[in-house]
Amino acid sequence: MSPFAIEKGLAGIGGSPKSVKKLRSGDLLLETNSAIQTKSFLLAKSFLNNPVTVTLHRTLNSCRGVISDNELMKSTEEEILEGLSSQGVTAVKRIFMKKGTTLIATKHVILTFNTTKLPSTVKAGYIYCKTRLYIPNPIRCFKCQRFGHSKTACRGRQTCCKCASVDHLTSDCQSAELLCANCKQPHSSDSKDCPQWKKEKKIQEVRTKQNLSYYEAKKLLFPEQNSMSYSNALKSSISQPSQTDERLTKVIVPPLIKLKPVQPNVLRVKNVSTTKTSTESPSTNSAAQSKIKKHSQNAKQAKASDQWELVKEKKQKAAKLAFWQNGGHITISVPLPFSYKRGLS
Ligand SMILES: [Zn+2]
Ligand SMILES: [Zn+2]
Ligand SMILES: [Zn+2]
Repeated sequence: MSPFAIEKGLAGIGGSPKSVKKLRSGDLLLETNSAIQTKSFLLAKSFLNNPVTVTLHRTLNSCRGVISDNELMKSTEEEILEGLSSQGVTAVKRIFMKKGTTLIATKHVILTFNTTKLPSTVKAGYIYCKTRLYIPNPIRCFKCQRFGHSKTACRGRQTCCKCASVDHLTSDCQSAELLCANCKQPHSSDSKDCPQWKKEKKIQEVRTKQNLSYYEAKKLLFPEQNSMSYSNALKSSISQPSQTDERLTKVIVPPLIKLKPVQPNVLRVKNVSTTKTSTESPSTNSAAQSKIKKHSQNAKQAKASDQWELVKEKKQKAAKLAFWQNGGHITISVPLPFSYKRGLS
Protein backbone atom coordinates (compact mmCIF):
# COMPACT_ATOMS: atom_id res chain seq x y z
CA MET A 1 0.00 0.00 0.00
CA SER A 2 1.12 3.51 -0.68
CA PRO A 3 2.43 5.48 2.31
CA PHE A 4 -0.05 8.24 1.52
CA ALA A 5 -2.97 5.85 1.70
CA ILE A 6 -1.63 4.35 4.92
CA GLU A 7 -1.29 7.74 6.54
CA LYS A 8 -4.84 8.69 5.55
CA GLY A 9 -6.15 5.35 6.77
CA LEU A 10 -4.49 5.76 10.16
CA ALA A 11 -5.78 9.32 10.56
CA GLY A 12 -9.26 7.98 9.78
CA ILE A 13 -9.13 5.52 12.67
CA GLY A 14 -7.85 7.63 15.54
CA GLY A 15 -6.18 10.75 14.22
CA SER A 16 -2.49 11.04 13.31
CA PRO A 17 -0.31 9.03 15.70
CA LYS A 18 2.83 10.52 17.25
CA SER A 19 4.99 8.26 15.09
CA VAL A 20 4.60 5.38 12.65
CA LYS A 21 7.29 2.84 11.78
CA LYS A 22 7.21 -0.13 9.49
CA LEU A 23 8.77 -3.19 11.06
CA ARG A 24 10.72 -5.92 9.30
CA SER A 25 7.71 -8.16 9.61
CA GLY A 26 5.59 -5.65 7.65
CA ASP A 27 3.61 -4.71 10.73
CA LEU A 28 3.20 -1.05 11.60
CA LEU A 29 4.43 0.18 14.96
CA LEU A 30 2.50 3.22 16.16
CA GLU A 31 3.27 5.53 19.00
CA THR A 32 0.11 7.24 20.20
CA ASN A 33 -0.48 10.67 21.69
CA SER A 34 -3.14 9.84 24.24
CA ALA A 35 -5.04 7.07 25.96
CA ILE A 36 -8.14 7.91 23.88
CA GLN A 37 -6.16 7.55 20.68
CA THR A 38 -4.73 4.24 21.89
CA LYS A 39 -8.25 2.99 22.55
CA SER A 40 -9.45 4.04 19.10
CA PHE A 41 -6.70 2.05 17.44
CA LEU A 42 -7.15 -0.97 19.71
CA LEU A 43 -10.83 -1.15 18.74
CA ALA A 44 -10.09 -1.05 15.00
CA LYS A 45 -11.00 -4.25 13.16
CA SER A 46 -10.22 -3.18 9.61
CA PHE A 47 -7.74 -0.94 7.89
CA LEU A 48 -8.30 0.33 4.33
CA ASN A 49 -10.82 -2.46 3.80
CA ASN A 50 -8.45 -5.14 5.11
CA PRO A 51 -8.93 -6.98 8.39
CA VAL A 52 -6.28 -6.04 10.98
CA THR A 53 -5.33 -6.99 14.48
CA VAL A 54 -4.10 -4.25 16.79
CA THR A 55 -2.25 -5.14 19.97
CA LEU A 56 -0.24 -3.32 22.60
CA HIS A 57 3.48 -3.73 22.07
CA ARG A 58 4.87 -6.32 24.43
CA THR A 59 7.94 -4.47 25.63
CA LEU A 60 7.77 -0.80 24.65
CA ASN A 61 5.01 0.14 27.10
CA SER A 62 6.82 -1.06 30.17
CA CYS A 63 10.26 -0.99 31.72
CA ARG A 64 12.16 -3.26 34.01
CA GLY A 65 14.33 -2.60 37.02
CA VAL A 66 16.27 -4.67 39.52
CA ILE A 67 16.12 -4.34 43.29
CA SER A 68 18.60 -6.13 45.55
CA ASP A 69 17.83 -6.39 49.22
CA ASN A 70 18.59 -9.15 51.69
CA GLU A 71 15.43 -8.29 53.57
CA LEU A 72 13.40 -9.59 50.63
CA MET A 73 15.14 -12.98 50.53
CA LYS A 74 12.27 -14.64 52.36
CA SER A 75 9.50 -13.03 50.35
CA THR A 76 8.03 -14.99 47.47
CA GLU A 77 7.55 -13.43 44.05
CA GLU A 78 3.80 -13.44 44.70
CA GLU A 79 4.18 -11.56 47.97
CA ILE A 80 6.47 -8.95 46.41
CA LEU A 81 4.08 -8.47 43.49
CA GLU A 82 1.14 -8.00 45.82
CA GLY A 83 3.10 -5.56 47.96
CA LEU A 84 4.33 -3.48 45.01
CA SER A 85 1.37 -3.62 42.63
CA SER A 86 0.06 -0.25 43.82
CA GLN A 87 3.40 1.24 42.67
CA GLY A 88 2.91 0.14 39.09
CA VAL A 89 4.67 -3.22 39.31
CA THR A 90 3.07 -5.80 37.03
CA ALA A 91 5.51 -8.71 37.26
CA VAL A 92 8.17 -9.94 39.66
CA LYS A 93 10.93 -12.39 38.91
CA ARG A 94 13.72 -13.41 41.25
CA ILE A 95 17.10 -14.06 39.63
CA PHE A 96 18.51 -17.52 40.21
CA MET A 97 22.12 -18.54 39.88
CA LYS A 98 23.07 -21.88 38.42
CA LYS A 99 25.58 -23.86 40.42
CA GLY A 100 26.14 -27.23 38.80
CA THR A 101 22.63 -28.56 38.44
CA THR A 102 21.05 -26.68 41.33
CA LEU A 103 19.49 -23.24 41.17
CA ILE A 104 20.27 -20.84 43.98
CA ALA A 105 18.03 -17.87 44.74
CA THR A 106 19.81 -14.51 44.78
CA LYS A 107 18.73 -11.27 46.42
CA HIS A 108 18.24 -9.70 42.99
CA VAL A 109 14.62 -9.32 41.89
CA ILE A 110 13.47 -8.07 38.48
CA LEU A 111 10.41 -5.83 38.56
CA THR A 112 8.32 -4.96 35.50
CA PHE A 113 6.61 -1.57 35.68
CA ASN A 114 3.60 -0.41 33.68
CA THR A 115 5.42 2.80 32.76
CA THR A 116 8.29 3.54 30.40
CA LYS A 117 10.19 5.54 33.01
CA LEU A 118 11.79 3.56 35.80
CA PRO A 119 11.03 4.93 39.28
CA SER A 120 14.24 5.48 41.27
CA THR A 121 12.92 3.64 44.33
CA VAL A 122 10.10 1.36 45.39
CA LYS A 123 8.76 0.94 48.90
CA ALA A 124 8.68 -2.71 49.87
CA GLY A 125 6.76 -2.81 53.12
CA TYR A 126 8.63 -0.32 55.28
CA ILE A 127 11.89 -0.48 53.23
CA TYR A 128 12.86 1.81 50.40
CA CYS A 129 14.69 -0.13 47.67
CA LYS A 130 16.76 1.59 45.00
CA THR A 131 16.04 0.37 41.48
CA ARG A 132 18.57 -0.16 38.69
CA LEU A 133 17.73 -0.53 35.03
CA TYR A 134 17.52 -4.17 34.04
CA ILE A 135 19.49 -5.01 30.92
CA PRO A 136 18.60 -8.50 29.70
CA ASN A 137 21.21 -10.81 28.27
CA PRO A 138 21.04 -11.50 24.54
CA ILE A 139 18.96 -14.50 23.52
CA ARG A 140 20.98 -17.28 21.95
CA CYS A 141 19.21 -20.14 20.23
CA PHE A 142 20.05 -23.48 21.84
CA LYS A 143 19.49 -25.24 18.53
CA CYS A 144 21.41 -23.25 15.88
CA GLN A 145 23.46 -21.13 18.39
CA ARG A 146 22.64 -17.85 16.64
CA PHE A 147 21.49 -14.75 18.51
CA GLY A 148 18.13 -13.01 18.40
CA HIS A 149 15.65 -15.88 18.52
CA SER A 150 14.86 -18.83 20.73
CA LYS A 151 14.89 -22.56 20.04
CA THR A 152 11.11 -22.68 19.58
CA ALA A 153 11.24 -20.11 16.74
CA CYS A 154 14.33 -21.64 15.13
CA ARG A 155 14.42 -22.61 11.47
CA GLY A 156 18.17 -23.10 11.43
CA ARG A 157 20.21 -26.27 11.60
CA GLN A 158 21.06 -28.11 14.78
CA THR A 159 24.58 -26.95 15.65
CA CYS A 160 26.94 -28.12 18.37
CA CYS A 161 27.56 -25.44 20.97
CA LYS A 162 31.12 -26.61 21.57
CA CYS A 163 32.59 -27.32 18.12
CA ALA A 164 30.03 -25.75 15.75
CA SER A 165 29.54 -29.06 13.96
CA VAL A 166 26.11 -29.73 12.45
CA ASP A 167 26.56 -33.51 12.70
CA HIS A 168 25.87 -34.05 16.36
CA LEU A 169 24.17 -32.69 19.47
CA THR A 170 26.16 -30.65 21.99
CA SER A 171 25.63 -33.42 24.54
CA ASP A 172 27.28 -35.94 22.17
CA CYS A 173 30.28 -33.77 21.35
CA GLN A 174 33.60 -35.64 21.24
CA SER A 175 35.67 -32.82 19.79
CA ALA A 176 38.71 -31.62 21.69
CA GLU A 177 38.76 -28.28 19.87
CA LEU A 178 36.32 -25.49 20.62
CA LEU A 179 34.83 -23.49 17.77
CA CYS A 180 32.21 -20.75 18.00
CA ALA A 181 29.37 -21.04 15.50
CA ASN A 182 28.96 -17.26 15.43
CA CYS A 183 32.48 -15.81 15.18
CA LYS A 184 34.53 -18.92 14.27
CA GLN A 185 36.99 -18.27 17.09
CA PRO A 186 38.23 -21.03 19.40
CA HIS A 187 35.62 -20.81 22.17
CA SER A 188 32.23 -22.41 22.67
CA SER A 189 29.19 -20.58 21.29
CA ASP A 190 27.94 -19.75 24.79
CA SER A 191 31.18 -17.97 25.76
CA LYS A 192 30.85 -14.48 27.23
CA ASP A 193 34.21 -13.67 25.57
CA CYS A 194 32.64 -14.01 22.15
CA PRO A 195 32.79 -10.68 20.28
CA GLN A 196 29.37 -11.43 18.84
CA TRP A 197 27.93 -11.87 22.33
CA LYS A 198 29.45 -8.57 23.43
CA LYS A 199 27.92 -6.86 20.42
CA GLU A 200 24.51 -8.34 21.17
CA LYS A 201 24.82 -7.27 24.80
CA LYS A 202 25.52 -3.70 23.67
CA ILE A 203 22.37 -3.81 21.53
CA GLN A 204 20.39 -4.91 24.57
CA GLU A 205 21.83 -2.06 26.60
CA VAL A 206 20.95 0.61 24.03
CA ARG A 207 17.55 -0.96 23.43
CA THR A 208 16.73 -0.88 27.14
CA LYS A 209 18.14 2.54 27.91
CA GLN A 210 16.52 4.29 24.95
CA ASN A 211 13.34 2.20 24.87
CA LEU A 212 13.87 1.08 21.28
CA SER A 213 12.99 -2.08 19.44
CA TYR A 214 15.78 -4.60 18.91
CA TYR A 215 16.25 -3.66 15.25
CA GLU A 216 16.20 0.07 15.92
CA ALA A 217 18.94 -0.34 18.51
CA LYS A 218 20.94 -2.56 16.18
CA LYS A 219 20.63 -0.10 13.32
CA LEU A 220 21.70 2.71 15.61
CA LEU A 221 24.80 0.87 16.78
CA PHE A 222 25.80 -0.90 13.59
CA PRO A 223 24.29 1.06 10.70
CA GLU A 224 26.64 -0.42 8.10
CA GLN A 225 25.67 -4.01 8.79
CA ASN A 226 22.98 -5.64 6.68
CA SER A 227 20.90 -8.63 7.58
CA MET A 228 23.27 -11.03 5.75
CA SER A 229 25.23 -11.68 8.89
CA TYR A 230 22.13 -13.00 10.56
CA SER A 231 21.04 -16.56 10.26
CA ASN A 232 18.83 -17.88 7.53
CA ALA A 233 16.55 -18.90 10.30
CA LEU A 234 15.86 -15.30 11.02
CA LYS A 235 15.40 -14.25 7.45
CA SER A 236 12.80 -16.89 6.79
CA SER A 237 10.99 -16.23 10.00
CA ILE A 238 8.00 -13.98 9.38
CA SER A 239 7.50 -12.58 12.84
CA GLN A 240 9.87 -10.24 14.56
CA PRO A 241 11.77 -12.15 17.17
CA SER A 242 10.73 -11.31 20.65
CA GLN A 243 13.31 -10.08 23.08
CA THR A 244 11.28 -10.66 26.16
CA ASP A 245 11.75 -14.30 27.00
CA GLU A 246 15.38 -14.21 28.03
CA ARG A 247 16.71 -17.04 30.09
CA LEU A 248 16.50 -15.58 33.52
CA THR A 249 18.75 -18.21 34.94
CA LYS A 250 21.51 -17.18 32.58
CA VAL A 251 21.65 -13.62 33.84
CA ILE A 252 25.01 -12.69 35.28
CA VAL A 253 24.72 -11.63 38.86
CA PRO A 254 27.35 -10.50 41.33
CA PRO A 255 28.71 -13.36 43.45
CA LEU A 256 26.51 -14.37 46.35
CA ILE A 257 27.63 -13.37 49.81
CA LYS A 258 27.35 -16.34 52.08
CA LEU A 259 25.33 -15.49 55.14
CA LYS A 260 27.32 -16.19 58.25
CA PRO A 261 25.57 -17.21 61.40
CA VAL A 262 26.11 -14.42 63.91
CA GLN A 263 27.79 -15.14 67.22
CA PRO A 264 25.23 -14.65 69.98
CA ASN A 265 27.52 -12.36 71.97
CA VAL A 266 27.84 -9.93 69.08
CA LEU A 267 24.12 -9.66 68.55
CA ARG A 268 22.75 -6.44 69.86
CA VAL A 269 19.65 -7.42 71.72
CA LYS A 270 17.70 -4.54 73.07
CA ASN A 271 14.03 -4.19 73.54
CA VAL A 272 13.27 -0.60 72.80
CA SER A 273 16.10 1.78 72.96
CA THR A 274 16.90 5.36 72.92
CA THR A 275 17.46 8.25 70.67
CA LYS A 276 19.14 9.03 67.41
CA THR A 277 22.31 10.21 69.10
CA SER A 278 22.82 7.00 70.95
CA THR A 279 22.02 4.71 68.05
CA GLU A 280 24.37 6.55 65.76
CA SER A 281 27.31 6.32 68.11
CA PRO A 282 29.45 3.36 67.13
CA SER A 283 30.40 2.68 70.71
CA THR A 284 26.88 1.82 71.78
CA ASN A 285 27.38 -1.69 70.61
CA SER A 286 27.90 -2.72 74.20
CA ALA A 287 29.00 -6.27 73.52
CA ALA A 288 31.65 -5.16 71.07
CA GLN A 289 32.66 -2.35 73.39
CA SER A 290 33.24 -4.59 76.38
CA LYS A 291 35.15 -6.99 74.21
CA ILE A 292 37.46 -4.21 73.06
CA LYS A 293 37.92 -3.07 76.65
CA LYS A 294 38.79 -6.52 77.88
CA HIS A 295 41.51 -6.87 75.33
CA SER A 296 42.92 -3.42 75.87
CA GLN A 297 46.17 -3.52 77.80
CA ASN A 298 46.84 0.15 77.57
CA ALA A 299 45.93 2.02 80.78
CA LYS A 300 45.94 5.36 79.05
CA GLN A 301 43.51 4.09 76.53
CA ALA A 302 41.26 2.77 79.25
CA LYS A 303 41.28 6.16 80.92
CA ALA A 304 40.35 7.90 77.72
CA SER A 305 37.62 5.41 77.22
CA ASP A 306 36.31 6.12 80.75
CA GLN A 307 36.19 9.77 79.91
CA TRP A 308 34.39 8.99 76.74
CA GLU A 309 31.86 6.95 78.72
CA LEU A 310 31.18 9.98 80.87
CA VAL A 311 30.70 12.25 77.89
CA LYS A 312 28.55 9.65 76.27
CA GLU A 313 26.38 9.31 79.34
CA LYS A 314 25.85 13.05 79.48
CA LYS A 315 25.01 13.16 75.82
CA GLN A 316 22.62 10.27 76.16
CA LYS A 317 20.85 11.94 79.06
CA ALA A 318 20.45 15.16 77.10
CA ALA A 319 19.28 13.28 74.08
CA LYS A 320 16.82 11.27 76.12
CA LEU A 321 15.34 14.46 77.48
CA ALA A 322 15.06 15.93 74.01
CA PHE A 323 13.47 12.72 72.87
CA TRP A 324 10.72 12.83 75.48
CA GLN A 325 10.11 16.45 74.66
CA ASN A 326 10.19 16.31 70.87
CA GLY A 327 9.88 12.70 69.86
CA GLY A 328 12.51 11.10 67.66
CA HIS A 329 13.98 7.85 66.42
CA ILE A 330 13.62 4.60 68.26
CA THR A 331 15.28 1.26 67.59
CA ILE A 332 13.34 -1.94 67.78
CA SER A 333 15.54 -5.04 68.02
CA VAL A 334 14.20 -8.53 67.87
CA PRO A 335 16.51 -11.34 69.01
CA LEU A 336 17.14 -13.72 66.11
CA PRO A 337 19.03 -16.98 65.79
CA PHE A 338 21.01 -15.49 62.95
CA SER A 339 21.05 -12.31 60.97
CA TYR A 340 22.10 -10.96 57.62
CA LYS A 341 25.29 -8.99 57.37
CA ARG A 342 23.40 -5.80 56.66
CA GLY A 343 20.86 -6.35 59.36
CA LEU A 344 23.42 -5.67 62.07
CA SER A 345 24.07 -2.05 61.26
ZN1 LIG B 1 18.11 -21.09 16.00
ZN1 LIG C 1 30.62 -30.80 18.87
ZN1 LIG D 1 32.29 -16.42 19.28
